[in-house]
Amino acid sequence: MTMKTDVQVAIIGGGIVGASVLYWLAKMGWTNTLLLERRELTSGSTWHAAGNTTYFGPYPAMTRLFAGSIRTYLQAEQESGQSVSFHQTGGLRLAATPRELELFHVYSARYEELGIPFHIRSPQEVAELHPLIKTDHIYGAAHTPTDGHVDPTGATHALAIAARGMGATVERQCPVISLHRDAEHWVLETENGTVRAEHVVVAASFWTRELLAPLGLNVPLYATQHQEMITDTIPELEALDHEVPAWRDSYVSCSVRQEANGVLAGVYESDPKFWALDGIPKDFKEDLFPPELDRIMPHLERLIERMPSFGEAGIKVTNNGAMCWTPDGLPMLGPMPEHDKLWLASGFNVGVGTGGGSGEFLAHWMTQGQPPFELEAVHAERFGNDVSTDDALAQIRAVYARGYQLPDSI
Ligand SMILES: Cc1cc2nc3c(=O)[nH]c(=O)nc-3n(C[C@H](O)[C@H](O)[C@H](O)COP(=O)(O)OP(=O)(O)OC[C@H]3O[C@@H](n4cnc5c(N)ncnc54)[C@H](O)[C@@H]3O)c2cc1C
Repeated sequence: MTMKTDVQVAIIGGGIVGASVLYWLAKMGWTNTLLLERRELTSGSTWHAAGNTTYFGPYPAMTRLFAGSIRTYLQAEQESGQSVSFHQTGGLRLAATPRELELFHVYSARYEELGIPFHIRSPQEVAELHPLIKTDHIYGAAHTPTDGHVDPTGATHALAIAARGMGATVERQCPVISLHRDAEHWVLETENGTVRAEHVVVAASFWTRELLAPLGLNVPLYATQHQEMITDTIPELEALDHEVPAWRDSYVSCSVRQEANGVLAGVYESDPKFWALDGIPKDFKEDLFPPELDRIMPHLERLIERMPSFGEAGIKVTNNGAMCWTPDGLPMLGPMPEHDKLWLASGFNVGVGTGGGSGEFLAHWMTQGQPPFELEAVHAERFGNDVSTDDALAQIRAVYARGYQLPDSI
């Protein structure tokens, strides 16, 4: 079949974010749409993500994106018949300091307003909820019992299948080489031909910077490496008749969840390593980097203090993958100034956690002319056009290293 050449919206990038924008545009009635993916759906960062989607966070408007994401994936699952494998394990954010516990109490009222269950648990209750966590040095935890994790690949395909069912189109193996404007349209040159579109959404993650540079745009997106490991079976977990909650901790700077009868731990190290600062290699595929365990060793030692059984389990898999970052760690969503009908949905480092809700947010903005709720913190134009690479990298380094530390302001 020949590719569509004239569409209302062309979306560049078929990760979970691009698929979500495609889905939500279709839900809101825009179906003359075309998603262009250079390889296969999920082949950027999405395929190797752990799929965690937590509701915990200091900013209620961001939490709406997280909550909207699980809702979106479950809805797409119903509509497509494609499983998203949602595991509603709930999540624990451990209080490593008395101040963190104090902040949890402040956040509690905000969750009431959002209608999301949120409980403060004592160390003893944490031990009951998660028998593998050693609770001697924690002050309690915030417990969000209705979140968990999904299968990112299943969720992306569910979104794409449901969108296609409503009339949207997906073109795989179709890299966009360049884009420019003629008098009325955006013109996208692809390896499979030219596409003219009224709107363009760039959901190309860490490829976005290079793709938009020829338009004079300096988009401060860069990739770090991010490591996670999966253990062999842990007998105490195997003996349980239910999945334990995921947990996150500023002391360890990691997130941990059950994966089969082992655990999956992702680490935010204090000195992150960047990748591809001279440009994304043209032949980059579904690639991972060699593990560099030395870099995360201090975190793993702390992880073993919190969960001694981690230290006894063998490591089955280590994934070191590329993760996209902006200088403040938040995604870039919305129109680009001075470029009519050019929209960004890029810069996601928690794209599974927030992708579903972000697709809804952007599609609402595009179809209704304004965002569904105030969330200036993610607006795409917030960095201006003049952030130098050195400044962007310094800020990303700091935000990555902050890991799960909470802002001290209320
Ligand atoms: C080890 C690891 C674990 C992670 N765990 C989690 C987690 O638990 N929870 C979570 O929320 N996030 C997690 N992440 C982050 C998550 O993977 C990303 O935030 C998310 O996948 C980003 O989705 P995306 O759609 O923005 O980008 P991508 O999935 O990278 O998609 C971008 C797509 O654009 C395509 N593309 C690029 N240029 C072009 C072009 N010119 N033409 C056509 N197509 C193009 C690419 O091929 C790619 O498929 C993890 C990341 C890593 C590395």
